[in-house]
Amino acid sequence: MMDHATRVGNRLLAALPPADFALLAPHLRKVVIERDSVLVRSGDRIEHLLFPLSGAIATIVELPNGQTVATAIIGNEGAVGLTSALGASHSPATAVVRISGAALQISPAQFLTAQHRSPPIASMVQVFTRSLLTQLQHVAACNALHSVEARLACWLLHIHDRANGSDLLPMTQETLSELLGVRRTTVTHVVSTMRASRALKSNRRGQLEIDRPRLEAVACECYKIMSRRIDRIVSHGAVGLVHGAPARSGSRSPGSRIAGTGS
Ligand SMILES: [Zn+2]
Repeated sequence: MMDHATRVGNRLLAALPPADFALLAPHLRKVVIERDSVLVRSGDRIEHLLFPLSGAIATIVELPNGQTVATAIIGNEGAVGLTSALGASHSPATAVVRISGAALQISPAQFLTAQHRSPPIASMVQVFTRSLLTQLQHVAACNALHSVEARLACWLLHIHDRANGSDLLPMTQETLSELLGVRRTTVTHVVSTMRASRALKSNRRGQLEIDRPRLEAVACECYKIMSRRIDRIVSHGAVGLVHGAPARSGSRSPGSRIAGTGS
């Protein structure tokens, strides 16, 4: 069974009261998520929910003509496949691992059973949905209004936040093209511009070395606004889960949430 030390790696799970986490724990399996692996493809049945403990996952929309664009970056503040908890059986986007890490995996059926018994788990789904909607709306605005260079800087900063402090990001030109929804020739041009401004220190063998302060200067304001809003939603939501979520009558004995604290 997963203990507290394991779940704290994911901010959504860490916020659950112990008695509610205990409903999920027997079904959670720790898995490695490898860079470039596709966790689910757009339109495929959602087989697993994944709560990342580390690493970064990009959600990508693929159009019928093969064009792609990233819509969100998900790390240990979120989950992949959680739309299944909202009733969707098929994935609305493709989820690709950009930075390797680990995750806790559970089947949608087992998650739904726990969710129906636990108001805090249901609240956790709402918290993540709100943070994801915020991200999607902001990315829509950013994609329409800001330059490719500023957008690339934003995505790299979001990925760097989830890269365990390493300034070397495993990103090929193809990966960048997939995130940005632009041709490889545009990527080549933007990367050389950012090399000239020293926001990118090197790009060799599929590794981009970033200069974080310079990259922040190139990025549009979207990076900071989005990071702050998502952090606020997840942090406030977490406080709400522990202190504010109403217990469904009869679902458990009074005071059991407090009694379970620290177990
Ligand atoms: Zn922007």
